[in-house]
Amino acid sequence: MQCEEVTLVLAEVAPVEDAALPLAAARHLDGCLRCQAELSQYRKLLRGLSSLREVQIAPDSTLLDEILENLRPPAPVLKLRRRDRRKAILKGVGAAAATGAAGAFVAVSKLNRSTVAQ
Ligand SMILES: [Zn+2]
Repeated sequence: MQCEEVTLVLAEVAPVEDAALPLAAARHLDGCLRCQAELSQYRKLLRGLSSLREVQIAPDSTLLDEILENLRPPAPVLKLRRRDRRKAILKGVGAAAATGAAGAFVAVSKLNRSTVAQ
């Protein structure tokens, strides 16, 4: 067995301390310092990661405000005068009415087409 093949097996067995390696990999590991070092590094990494499970870090009290501040897009607030507000409302109502009329026209024309086709 070559080191590259053994390395793949080592990654699988590293989490289990007394895991049994396949016989060919175990024989290779007995005589190969490189693979022994690799297994040692895997286990050291896993120990380090498991020690982090119990570490709790208290967030900074300003963290939430900073996150929300970065999420909000910068939007200017425009104050409309009463006359401008009325114009904006009328434009919106006009656009809605036009859309409704266009939809009704399309619906009626489809109904007419379907009755003609029959
Ligand atoms: Zn090796």
